[in-house]
Amino acid sequence: MASNIRVAVIGSGAAGLCALRHLIAKPHVFEAVCFEKGNQVGGTWIYTDKTGIDENGLPIHSSMYKHLKTNLPKEVMAFPDFQFNANLPSFIGHEEVLRYLESYSNFYGLSSYIKFKTYVLRVNPIKDLKDKTKWEVSYTNTTDKKEENNQTEIFDAVIVCNGHYSDPIYPSLPGIEKFKGEIIHSHNYRDEESMRDKVVMVLGAGASGQDIAIEISSTAKNVYLSHNKAPLTSILPANVEQKSGIQEVKDTSVIFKNGEICDADVLLLCTGYYFTFPFLTEKCHLSINDERVTPLYKHVIHTELPSLSFIGICKTICPFPLFNNQVQFVLGSLDGTFSLPSEEEMNKDTQNDFEKRLSEGLPPRYAHHMGPRQWNYNQQLENIANLKPIPRSVQVLYDMVHKKRVQNLPGYKKVNYKMVGPEEFETIEPV
Ligand code: FAD
Repeated sequence: MASNIRVAVIGSGAAGLCALRHLIAKPHVFEAVCFEKGNQVGGTWIYTDKTGIDENGLPIHSSMYKHLKTNLPKEVMAFPDFQFNANLPSFIGHEEVLRYLESYSNFYGLSSYIKFKTYVLRVNPIKDLKDKTKWEVSYTNTTDKKEENNQTEIFDAVIVCNGHYSDPIYPSLPGIEKFKGEIIHSHNYRDEESMRDKVVMVLGAGASGQDIAIEISSTAKNVYLSHNKAPLTSILPANVEQKSGIQEVKDTSVIFKNGEICDADVLLLCTGYYFTFPFLTEKCHLSINDERVTPLYKHVIHTELPSLSFIGICKTICPFPLFNNQVQFVLGSLDGTFSLPSEEEMNKDTQNDFEKRLSEGLPPRYAHHMGPRQWNYNQQLENIANLKPIPRSVQVLYDMVHKKRVQNLPGYKKVNYKMVGPEEFETIEPV
C-alpha cells in the first residue's frame, strides 16, 4: 500500500468537498490540500446578484438564478453518506443546497484543508529522479495578485474539480450581431422580473432552457422555446410555445428553420457551457473537441497521466452520488486498492464507449452525457473500485421524477416525495 500521497484538489464545490472528505478519511495514506479561488465552500451554489466580473477581477463563477428550485429532489441529490434536512421539501432553493454543502464541510471538518482566495494558475507535470510523475501547482492570492507572491507546491496527484457551468457558449447564429434587442446567456440570467412584459426567445431546451422558460412565463408576455430536439411532450403554460431551431436572426425578429418568423425583445441563450481548464499546461496533453474531453478513462482518469483526474465531467446525472463514486474510484487507483489497466486498454475502453454512443445516434458532443447510462456507469465504478453501491432508491426516485417532468414541466416541482419502502416512494401533492 502506498503512503503519504500528496494530493491537490482544485475547487471546493460539491466535487472538491467530496474529494477532500474521502482523502482525509485516510490520513495514513493521503495528504490533501484544496485550492479555492472564492472565500467560501459551495461553488456554483453560491448565488450572487452580480454578473460579469467579481471584486477581484475574476469572472463570476455561479450560474444560479434567484428563484431557482433544484431540478432533482433532495432525496436523490444527497451524497449517499450525508442526507439533507428531512424537514425540507423535495425541491429546494439554492440557499438550501449551499447550506447542505456547508454542513457537509463542517461535519467532515474539511475547511482547514482548504486554501481560500487562492487561484490556481498553473498545473504542470514533471518527472522526479525516479522518473515518477509529480505535479507543480502554482497559485496566487485572489486579493493580492502580485507576481512575486505566487507560490508553487509539488504534489503526487491532482484532482480537478473546477466546475463546468461558468464559461458560457455563445452560438454563432447568422445575423445575431444585427439583433437590436437584448442578448443574455443563462449564466447571466438572475430573475424573472427582468423579463416582465417582454417577448423572450429561449434558445435551447436542456435543463436550464426548460426551467427558465417556465420561470419567466409568470412575467414575460410570450416565451418561445426554440430548439432542435423532438418537441417536448409536457403541458406548458399558455404563453409558452415551442419553435424549431433558429435559421437566422434579424434586427428585431428571428427566422426559424421551418421558415416561420417571430418578433423578439430578448434572446435568452440556454446554450450550455464550455469545459475549460485554463491552468493545465500543454504538457498535460488534454484535448477538448466538440465538448469531448480526452483522454479520460471512465470520464475521470487521464489515461497517459493517471495521477491527474477530473470529477464531474459527466452530464445529465445525479451529480453528488456520482461524484462520490468518481472520487473513490480515483482514490482507489491512487492508493493501490485496484490497478488501472494499461494506457492502451484504457484508451480502447474510452473509444468503445464513445463509438457506442455514436452508433446509438448521439452526436459527438454527447460524449459525456449520461441520463439512463449513469446507473450502469456507476455500477462499473463500484465494481472496479469495490465501492458501496448507490442505493437503488436513488434510481427509482430519479426515474419517477423524470417521468413526471416529461409530462408536467410547470408542476413537477410542486410535489414532495416520501420513502415508504426500500425502493418505494409516495408522492404528496401539491406542496
Ligand atoms: P462548482 O460548484 O462549480 O465548483 C467549482 C469550484 O472550483 C468553485 O468553487 C470555483 O471557485 C473553484 N475554482 C474554479 N477554478 C479554480 C481555480 N483556477 N483555482 C481555484 N479554484 C477554482 N445539480 C443537482 O444535483 N441538482 C440541481 O438541481 C442542479 N441544478 C443546477 C442548476 C444550475 C443553474 C447549474 C449551473 C447547475 C446545477 N446543478 C444541479 C449541477 C451542479 O453544477 C452540481 O450539482 C455541482 O454543484 C457541481 O459541483 P462542482 O464542484 O463540480 O463545480
